[in-house]
Amino acid sequence: MVRYSIIIPAYNEEEVLDETYKRLTEVMKSTEEEYELIFINDGSRDNTFKMLQDYCKKDSSIKVVNFSRNFGHQIAVTAGMEYSSGQAVVIIDADLQDPPRVILEMIAKWKEGYDVVYGKRLVRKGETFFKKFTAKCFYRILDHMTTVDIPVDTGDFRLMDRKVVDVMNSLSEKNRYVRGLVSWVGFKQTAVEYMRDGRFAGETKYPLKKMLKLAADGILSFSYKPLHFAGVVGSMLSFASFIYLIIVVIQKLFTSTTQPGWASLVAVILFFNGVSLILHCITGEYVGRIYEETKNRPLYIVREAINFDESVVADIR
Ligand code: UDP
Ligand code: MG
Repeated sequence: MVRYSIIIPAYNEEEVLDETYKRLTEVMKSTEEEYELIFINDGSRDNTFKMLQDYCKKDSSIKVVNFSRNFGHQIAVTAGMEYSSGQAVVIIDADLQDPPRVILEMIAKWKEGYDVVYGKRLVRKGETFFKKFTAKCFYRILDHMTTVDIPVDTGDFRLMDRKVVDVMNSLSEKNRYVRGLVSWVGFKQTAVEYMRDGRFAGETKYPLKKMLKLAADGILSFSYKPLHFAGVVGSMLSFASFIYLIIVVIQKLFTSTTQPGWASLVAVILFFNGVSLILHCITGEYVGRIYEETKNRPLYIVREAINFDESVVADIR
């Protein structure tokens, strides 16, 4: 029985991989307990997979799940959890922004009896002002919108007990916001604080588009408030328009001033159409997600899984 599983999603990470492998191995060896490093190759187009294959040949504690294409970070993490067999499972980024030695602190907390130990970022180094600012705003907005208590300034870097991972593996939703789901399942949770370093090498694999998708998944899968917001905006606008309508009718009937204007009419129509399209779009986001769920496609497709026990792979099938 493996004691620790470390899950490392990797997408075009050839520049950092050697160092990541080295540092994680060092840290995990120091526990003097059995461990596995599960790398998920998320459809990388560089040398990542080849490098991983080489590690696998010389080191049987390295395991690789090779995706058929890029499915995204959250899905990679999910696959890692499904392929893991450790009693404690850790998720960590491949780029060494989350320092591997923090894993030891997490393990200590786990041994004290906690089921989830998440890493809370005190400082984020080597990231743009824009990223830090938007992340800070996002976590706070999400916190206001949801009833689930999702800790702020916390990424996916965390340790989970086997029983938490088993529950996570039983959740089938498609647009996954993993850190939210882990909060949602509950159990005994605690934080360790750490300084987030800059990327060891290479550049971010999270362009704005992926960040927005992650943010949307976070909000839309944990809150109905956007729909509620659409209702409130709609009601307020209708009410204001109704009052205005009465004013215009009174002016027409009882005074000599009539409202002139084609321009103002067009402006008002365009404005209201814009607002109503935006509100439709909010509903559409939810409907689209329902559609995703009903299609019932698998979350990811594995091209090959290397160094895993036959029993682990059979369980997943
Ligand atoms: N990643 C992935 N698939 C993707 C994008 C990213 O598996 O489509 C991995 C990436 O290799 C890294 C982690 O997710 O291990 C976090 O990505 P990154 O460090 O680029 O994000 P950032 O820290 O800039 O937010
Ligand atoms: Mg990073």
